[in-house]
Amino acid sequence: MKILVCISHVPDTTSKIVFKNDLTEFDASGVTFVMNPYDEFGLTKAMHIKESLGGTITVANVGLAVTESTLRKALAIGADDAVRINAEPTDASYVAGLLAEYAGTQNFDLIITGRESIDYNGGAVPGMIAAHLNIPFVNACIGFDLNAEQATMIREIDGGKETLQGKLPLLIAGQKGLVEEKDLRIPAMRGIMMARKKPLTVLEASDREKHTNVLDYQLPEEKGACTLIDADDVEQLVQLLHSEAKVI
Ligand SMILES: Cc1cc2nc3c(=O)[nH]c(=O)nc-3n(C[C@H](O)[C@H](O)[C@H](O)COP(=O)(O)OP(=O)(O)OC[C@H]3O[C@@H](n4cnc5c(N)ncnc54)[C@H](O)[C@@H]3O)c2cc1C
Repeated sequence: MKILVCISHVPDTTSKIVFKNDLTEFDASGVTFVMNPYDEFGLTKAMHIKESLGGTITVANVGLAVTESTLRKALAIGADDAVRINAEPTDASYVAGLLAEYAGTQNFDLIITGRESIDYNGGAVPGMIAAHLNIPFVNACIGFDLNAEQATMIREIDGGKETLQGKLPLLIAGQKGLVEEKDLRIPAMRGIMMARKKPLTVLEASDREKHTNVLDYQLPEEKGACTLIDADDVEQLVQLLHSEAKVI
């Protein structure tokens, strides 16, 4: 079983988001980067599959050298080898094209991505990789089971769940539920030491077209101050909803 887990390197959720150069660029100075949380679920699921069926786990990232800390963490958690495709990930179709180009040379049985990256939240990369490789794609996966070559997947849909079947090779985009938060692996000291010796290959990116270009970013409006009123004072509540919130 050959598994590829695509790993995106994102700002920690507690980071203060600041833009520079006339709001055209994210200011990464002082920001701590982590593994995209959805990808942690995917990597842990890959570990479960490997532990029950055997096989190998490769992790891949499109990014500059700074992302190697995240790939090393994935190796410390238990991936067998890592690939960094050396390019600034400035466009979802560009990223997906590069990942698909690499995956297309490797005959992976299963590709796991996150449902979305928590920085740019495009949710665009997984479907595009599957389209390039012409393999089935199941999004928002909260369950995955394998019986011979037949995979059973559970997907979260509005107000319920959907169960699907498909044959390998295929691509799933995972989220919480694929494994539970309590199952997420934390690198142990032995894993960290072993990760140093595991292969991390850097591939030069091919010359692909970028389809989009950010003109600017806008932060949401600051939230107003919170006014606390007495739970029994309906009159004041109505008056504030009318005069301040202006919703009635
Ligand atoms: C410096 C910079 C400039 C940017 N400028 C632009 C711009 O001009 N126009 C624009 O549209 N976007 C821009 N972006 C955003 C960039 O396109 C996205 O961060 C990236 O392509 C991921 O796309 P997404 O949000 O659709 O990922 P999603 O589809 O939300 O990610 C889903 C999953 O795909 C996988 N994945 C995503 N990204 C990677 C990756 N890099 N390596 C490996 N796996 C990955 C992960 O498994 C992830 O969980 C910029 C980003 C950076 C860092």
